[in-house]
Amino acid sequence: MTTLGERMLIDGELVAAGSGRTFDNINPATEEVIGAAPEAGAADVERAIGAARRAFDSTDWSTNTELRRHCLVQLRDALRENVEALRAGLIAETGTPVRLTAGVALEAAIGYLDHYIGLLETYSFERRLPVKEIGGAPVERVIRREAAGVIAAITPWNYPFYLNIAKVGAALAAGCTVVLKPAPDSPWSALALGEIAAEHTDLPAGVLNVVTTGDNGVAALLTSHPDVDGVTLTGSTLTGRKVMGAASETLKRVTLELGGKSAAVLLDDCDFMATIPMLAGAVCAHAGQGCTQLTRMLVPRARLEEALAYAKGTMERIPWGDPTDPDTLMGPVINARQRDNILRHYETAARDGRIVLGGRPTDRFERGYFVEPTLVTDVDPRAAIAQEEIFGPALVVLPYDDDEDAVRIADGTPYGLSAGVYGADVERAMAMARRFRTGTVSVAGAAWFDVESPFGGYKQSGLGREWGTEGLEDFLEVKTIAFPAGAV
Ligand code: NAD
Repeated sequence: MTTLGERMLIDGELVAAGSGRTFDNINPATEEVIGAAPEAGAADVERAIGAARRAFDSTDWSTNTELRRHCLVQLRDALRENVEALRAGLIAETGTPVRLTAGVALEAAIGYLDHYIGLLETYSFERRLPVKEIGGAPVERVIRREAAGVIAAITPWNYPFYLNIAKVGAALAAGCTVVLKPAPDSPWSALALGEIAAEHTDLPAGVLNVVTTGDNGVAALLTSHPDVDGVTLTGSTLTGRKVMGAASETLKRVTLELGGKSAAVLLDDCDFMATIPMLAGAVCAHAGQGCTQLTRMLVPRARLEEALAYAKGTMERIPWGDPTDPDTLMGPVINARQRDNILRHYETAARDGRIVLGGRPTDRFERGYFVEPTLVTDVDPRAAIAQEEIFGPALVVLPYDDDEDAVRIADGTPYGLSAGVYGADVERAMAMARRFRTGTVSVAGAAWFDVESPFGGYKQSGLGREWGTEGLEDFLEVKTIAFPAGAV
């Protein structure tokens, strides 16, 4: 890789924006401008869509599984070779703590491509139904899964490298062509992916395109353009609604991975000392900027103060600050707007309940968009701090009266992304897990995240799934072909 992500990838070429304009990429830990990303205009986005359309319609990409496997292997290997440059860029543009880059944020995510490489060796894109007499004649049917077409992949800034890989990997494996549009706060990771793909793989021109823009109005073209067949978005629920609305005009298929306000239910036989430090620490990881973080902790009413003491003890010791320090678990939040949003949520929480820890603007650092880890209690489960996604290091502890009450509170938000249930009696915890209206549940601390587990949300947390075979199938159409039995 020559430079780290300064050019877009359109139709196989690494290019600047047609207008020559750029927008600043800002390091949230230092507030310094660290680079410039191309400011794509509508004409650039049109060109990317046109290239993806042509590549889908006129090359054998959608049917050549061996070529797809070969290109994904090349991409994985080239990403590995460039991992240090990718790490530096990711930390600089998002404030991701370096210790998280060994996992999902970067290194593990490169390896996740193996999931789709493996599926290209094992997945049956075609199956036959047994002979049956239909309409007075014996027929056979072939059920084919075919690439859905041109996919617009739109990603957020919190885990940008991982999310770019999750979407691009699945769509390319399925045989789709892609226009990737990252968030304005994390253009580098996507531009670098495009550059690496252009320089180190045999991807035919137009199969993968990467465009960057600071203007969501320009990005919205991807969700309404008639040549785009599907949109996959990870982002806020508000953006999900807009994207679904815009896509409805041409009835595009839409996969949405949206917000969450997930609950951890601690049953009355839960070992608080073993459980709460792990949960309270996880809420602060990457400054709370994760969609599945368990930001509400539900505890038996009689054990509320005990739970608060454990959570406070953990959260006041969280190592936070410089993301390049290997001890740091919590860096800055992404930008000044997010910091101010979080601080507004803290103010509302102080009015609606009790702040046990944090809750104020921090004067700990001279520069950077840092917020304090914050612990809140004594709020109604319907209060804003207990209902809205904060996307900051905030934990709300809510008491419940019995298991029924716990399920009611846990499911009592518009979201349905994830949940956890913790207790010594795993059968009882499993029974509760089955009741939650969420896409994933952890029982007794077991990890659900893995490339083989489908991931996604119920209710307003989304539509469709990533990973598993479901993640591939979200980018596949289903075709039934009937023919006279025995004819072929
Ligand atoms: P966002 O919704 O503001 O933006 C997401 C992406 O959509 C960005 O690339 C943005 O530029 C683009 N966008 C915004 N408006 C658009 C429009 N009208 N048309 C087309 N594109 C548009 O989200 P964010 O602030 O970047 O990220 C944080 C959100 O992402 C949180 O709500 C978080 O929960 C969610 N998230 C969800 C998951 C998940 O898998 N469920 C994972 C990570 C983040």
